[in-house]
Amino acid sequence: MSPPDPSRLRSLPSITEVLGWPEVAQRLAHEPPDFSVRVAREAVGAARGRLLAGQDVSFGPPDVLRVYEQLKQPGLRRVINAAGVVLHTNLGRAPLHPKAIARLAEVAAGYSTLELDAESGERGSRYAPLVEHLRALTGAEDALVVNNCAGAVLLTLAALGAGKEAIVSRGELVEIGGGFRVPDVMRQAGVALKEVGTTNRTRLSDYRAALSEQTGALVKVHRSNFAVVGFTEEASVKELAGLAAERGLPLFVDLGSGALEALHTEGLGEEPTVRSAVAAGASIVAFSGDKLLGGPQAGVLVGRRSWLAPLKEHPLTRALRVDKLTVAALEATLELYRDGQADHVPVRALLARSAAAVHAQAKALSARLEGVAHRLVETVAQVGGGCLPLSALPSTAVALDVPNADAVHHRLRTGAPSVVGRIVDGALWLDLRCVAEADMDALAARVREAVGA
Ligand SMILES: *Cc1c(COP(=O)(O)O)cnc(C)c1O
Repeated sequence: MSPPDPSRLRSLPSITEVLGWPEVAQRLAHEPPDFSVRVAREAVGAARGRLLAGQDVSFGPPDVLRVYEQLKQPGLRRVINAAGVVLHTNLGRAPLHPKAIARLAEVAAGYSTLELDAESGERGSRYAPLVEHLRALTGAEDALVVNNCAGAVLLTLAALGAGKEAIVSRGELVEIGGGFRVPDVMRQAGVALKEVGTTNRTRLSDYRAALSEQTGALVKVHRSNFAVVGFTEEASVKELAGLAAERGLPLFVDLGSGALEALHTEGLGEEPTVRSAVAAGASIVAFSGDKLLGGPQAGVLVGRRSWLAPLKEHPLTRALRVDKLTVAALEATLELYRDGQADHVPVRALLARSAAAVHAQAKALSARLEGVAHRLVETVAQVGGGCLPLSALPSTAVALDVPNADAVHHRLRTGAPSVVGRIVDGALWLDLRCVAEADMDALAARVREAVGA
């Protein structure tokens, strides 16, 4: 790389000059002066960076206006998910059903009965609208909802096991993702971890041998995001529930993914339902609101009334409490299950899409990309969100054979609406499984723009 020519650096305009360019002055006319200066500085700074990198730079009003548009975009914005991951944690996991969105908007716009018992006029519980649904849908006696499943696990361990030991299988001391590790959460909750068994095999007798005066709870963590295959053995919820009941101890099951109904979908493995864990005798079951349930972010706890009572009293419950938007969206989502509309929950519908339907949609995108080098590829989409790691959902992607796939992907991600795909062997793959029909025109337009077609 040759050193930049200093005269070229000097040729860059001053901030005052940039702000005086008529197109720029006109577009920024109503912006506060500080903000306009920031736009000009960032635009000039970027041009200087390109010059220093030895690139050939022409710099004019369109460069400034591009920086302006980018700075005006909200930080959190909509994405067309062409990554082929249904519950993509980085992309906000579960999309909500229109009924949940409508309920959320209604409650957000004004006041609500969040903590009002309208019947008596007295103070009510924000959990009340959810408890009845959760009892009916899981067979549990009682329920509580907090901010997310990680919070639900922390709360349960703190309320049931602080100052005592919790017995967990070595095969379940997992990291869920985002730094959420079961042993660390136990430490935070003030619970001493009592590991039993081995990575691949843990028997009921291992738990039995570890019981002592110090034992506060038996804990079972669902291996939601990895699999142990081969020479394996684990104690079932039913066996552990029997042992816990014998000693008057609680059995806490962290189910994570939280399917309210079985998933009957090609390519999906077995996923235990919440109801099955409750029926097998778990004292408390924790699961996420925004994984397989398909609702807003939340941590749902269901189980025996007597074991949930100390959780309700615990100060962490206040610290982890859900807001009205979560209650609104979760209640509306649970109503879909109650009304036999589980198949319409967006996550479940995306998981259930047939390979043929996704393929037809890929062909429809292909037809809109005439003149752009691409091909259709059969691929495999993932459930994601730490659910069903062995799942393999048949899917179809449009693979863009562009010379600089990373740069094209960058343009797609940073524009509006943002598009996220994945790079495979130097090509940019756009998986159609999670792309809404209504987004097809926008997706095609963004692709054409990003490849310069
Ligand atoms: C995903 C998961 C969690 C964390 O749930 P969040 O709702 O993301 O906080 C906890 N435990 C298990 C087993 C999980 O799969």
